[in-house]
Amino acid sequence: MSRIQLTRGAETIISTLERAGHEAYVVGGCVRDSLLGEEPHDWDICTSAIPSEIMECFSGKRIINTGMKHGTVTVLMNDGGYEVTTFRIDGDYSDSRHPDSVVFTSSLRKDLARRDFTMNAMAYNNHFGLIDPFGGEEALRHNVISCVGNAYDRFQEDALRIMRALRFAATCGFSIQEDTSQAIHRLAPQLKSVAAERIQSELNKLIFGKGALQVLLKYSDVMSVIIPEFAPCIGFDQNNPYHEYAIYDHIAHAVSNYTGNDLTVKLALLLHDIGKPQCYTEDERGGHFHGHGVPSRDIANVVMQRLRFDNRTREDVLTLVLYHDSVIEPTPRVVRRWLNKIGEQNFRRLLRVRMADIEAHAKWTQQSRIERCIALSSILDDIITQGQCFTMKNLNINGNDVMSLGVPEGKRVGTILNTLLGRVISGELENDHGELLDEANKLARKC
Ligand code: ATP
Ligand code: MG
Repeated sequence: MSRIQLTRGAETIISTLERAGHEAYVVGGCVRDSLLGEEPHDWDICTSAIPSEIMECFSGKRIINTGMKHGTVTVLMNDGGYEVTTFRIDGDYSDSRHPDSVVFTSSLRKDLARRDFTMNAMAYNNHFGLIDPFGGEEALRHNVISCVGNAYDRFQEDALRIMRALRFAATCGFSIQEDTSQAIHRLAPQLKSVAAERIQSELNKLIFGKGALQVLLKYSDVMSVIIPEFAPCIGFDQNNPYHEYAIYDHIAHAVSNYTGNDLTVKLALLLHDIGKPQCYTEDERGGHFHGHGVPSRDIANVVMQRLRFDNRTREDVLTLVLYHDSVIEPTPRVVRRWLNKIGEQNFRRLLRVRMADIEAHAKWTQQSRIERCIALSSILDDIITQGQCFTMKNLNINGNDVMSLGVPEGKRVGTILNTLLGRVISGELENDHGELLDEANKLARKC
């Protein structure tokens, strides 16, 4: 086992606590990530010292009382903030959400025993090395996620752990140990009692995981607890040659096909076809889902509000879901029109959504549609690099110019400007001040 390389701050905090006669270790995610050869994004420290003792040890440092009640103090070191938490045992869980109380303990082992998965229940310091009473290192070696203790009890205590298991399975590309997996399927409905924000945060990580496809497919039952609107999509045969997957499976493939890091794109893929079951029709050529962007958008709206996504993300996702399937002719004028309608950022995202969507369709349908996406993307790049006009802001004429032609302030000024912008976007007019002024003059005289 490679020795874990502590950060300067973590080493100082641990040695300070030890000098005062306490035990202290780095614990949880940072130990797991280090053993996986990944750089931890934060370092949590656990200690036998109670909060007042922790404060005493760091009286010269800046300290934040993160959660004194739960025994957590944040100590600010030169290289960042460290959460230092007293060893604790969680009390009873009466609501599958929060322990009713926490009790401090002087036993590291008891603290590790309350943690969710064996790979998250390891501690380390330079004196004692790795403390791993539940076989976390072994689990990492076998790429397995396994509860500490009885899985059924652990998920019943805190149902969020179900989402955490799926999230780690997806991000680490691990499988979930059989008992743990069975308990997940059995207890998934308890996720209904978990706060939406906590579910959202795990879901956002899950869908970016390299193993997201396997997790989404194997745990579709869990997904339809957190997003019940998925239930009709699961196993829904699309009954046409463009698709080789049922709706839900197609969604899962589309989500995993996108490998970028834009959450809005991922979420749009997750929700893009969710309204399909509502608009299924059939004729001699098979199944159709005409206009499914609209119900998908409406359902996505409900889902994202319920999961408490912020308005900006929600609105952008809804735009992408609504238009994911619109026909966009690859010509500069059509692309400029779309840029005017949804903006550059969302247009770029829309192309990413389309690529991932197309790649989850039957193979024979892909080539021409991928080529169209590439053509759209290159037209887009030309429009941007050439600084072509597609918004009022970039139009080389403004309201004052129009009024200087004798048009009184008011609605007509806007109408004239909009007409001019429409003509510039469609390529009938150059975005040239003189030419626009001439044209405005003609329009002003017309009525
Ligand atoms: P990351 O920070 O990469 O998301 P993490 O495992 O560090 O993953 P945190 O939420 O930072 O997750 O939690 C730190 C540690 O606290 C975990 O490694 C685990 O030991 C424990 N833990 C967190 N949430 C739970 C929970 N719901 N039930 C039991 N133990 C938990
Ligand atoms: Mg962490």
